[in-house]
Amino acid sequence: MKNSYTVLIFLLTTSLFAQISPQSKKITEKFFPENETILNTTPALQKKRGYTDYKELLTFLNTLVAKHPEKIKLSFIGESQKGRKIPLVRLTNPSNKEKIKVWMQGGLHGNESASTEGMLYLLDRLLNDDKYAAILEEVDLALVPMANIDGYLKVDRYAANGLDLNRDQTKLMAPESIALKRAFSNFNPEVGVDFHEYRPYRKDFARLSDFGVTALYDAMFLYTGNLNVPENLREITDTLFVENARKALDENKLRHHTYMSTIKNKGEIHFNHGSISARSSATNYALTNTISTLIEVRGVGIGKTSFKRRIQVTFSVAISYLKTALKNIKVVKSAIEKASEQKNEIVVTSDREVYKGKIEVIDLDSNEIIELDVTLRDALKANPIIVRKRPKAYLIDSNQKELIEKLKVLGVEVEELSQDTEITVEALQIDAYDRNSVKYEKMNQQTVSLKLIGEKRIFKKGTFKISMNQRRSNIIVEVLEPEAASSFVSFGVLETSKGAMLPIYRILN
Ligand SMILES: [Zn+2]
Repeated sequence: MKNSYTVLIFLLTTSLFAQISPQSKKITEKFFPENETILNTTPALQKKRGYTDYKELLTFLNTLVAKHPEKIKLSFIGESQKGRKIPLVRLTNPSNKEKIKVWMQGGLHGNESASTEGMLYLLDRLLNDDKYAAILEEVDLALVPMANIDGYLKVDRYAANGLDLNRDQTKLMAPESIALKRAFSNFNPEVGVDFHEYRPYRKDFARLSDFGVTALYDAMFLYTGNLNVPENLREITDTLFVENARKALDENKLRHHTYMSTIKNKGEIHFNHGSISARSSATNYALTNTISTLIEVRGVGIGKTSFKRRIQVTFSVAISYLKTALKNIKVVKSAIEKASEQKNEIVVTSDREVYKGKIEVIDLDSNEIIELDVTLRDALKANPIIVRKRPKAYLIDSNQKELIEKLKVLGVEVEELSQDTEITVEALQIDAYDRNSVKYEKMNQQTVSLKLIGEKRIFKKGTFKISMNQRRSNIIVEVLEPEAASSFVSFGVLETSKGAMLPIYRILN
């Protein structure tokens, strides 16, 4: 009896939390007043409760296609785990002008509702508001409005099998990840933006200040500090694309900051800045030499509070990225060209710089902005740990079909040896090994260190060869170098053991 009572209370409180915002009216009124300039043009904006469902999504897209058949094409890139086809729309004006390719997506986490709604709002405005008509003259836009359909329909962060699709971008274990990555690689964009929302009432925020705090920023920009991403692309992301979006938000009096997120470090709360990890989109896209940003809008767990404001934030940033892209077509294309001039070294592992800093938050007791002294762990100031000579190519044994399939999904070009060939290589032996028995994202992660063995040997016809002389070479490093944090070995996609020889070889000369 007592147990079922507890379960009932638990169900009641969780379902209440799913609908009712933990945010007080006075915080909403003072810091996040609703935006009334946003028009009710999308399904969720036209109803009081709930978000866009699958049928409404398809009707919305089909209506746009029927009205603007020359500008918008609808296709499906694959199916969700529950068998729902994932729509992708392609928008451009047919013309002979040189165009820049931009990829946008929303709803990769299913409980970040304004990201999908913001994408639908963007589609509507690009096609139905003359003010934005010029954009499609020079931009070729591919857009996936609801990337994680099964999760979105349940207002759940995860895909149907429980995987986090923004931790799955190197191991590629969810069908949605494969469909999205393949579509991204085929489209081959110059600019990629992944729209999300973040949780402003985090559990650990309750420990900061006497009565807890909540996040202040309408938007946070998450971009990469990964040292394998060419410096000129990291630079242009920050100083051109993010900078223009910051100005656009300033003009609308919307607050913004570089992405930060709390983590526990020896019982203390630290703040992570920026992104470094290839398993997530911001860095993953950047490693394919795409100008990449993930946008976090303040919205998870607050229901439809300030919903139009959140759509406005998403929309303003999206329009800013499109305008920046079309005004800088030559700059972007030549930066990506320049990024293919490769360095002599690769960075296998790196560390965030740790320092003391200040952040601003809203104090829940006083309803005022306060400053906190915190420890920051900054990916945008990363330091290399393991550095190696950049190989000319990698070889992979012919029986490793799964690894090759994943490399191809990531857009990597793979060749095969056409005859038995003697090649001088560096073979990789596992010197130290640890397997984590607690699963992370359904995988048993492995930590290894290597012994490198120089040798000359005969590789059979059919051995896979992956040249590093290609646009997406930097993602190859992150998945094939065993110690890299999101590699096939680290994630347990390629299982190994102490003393084992890996089926991966480096060609140095
Ligand atoms: Zn997210």
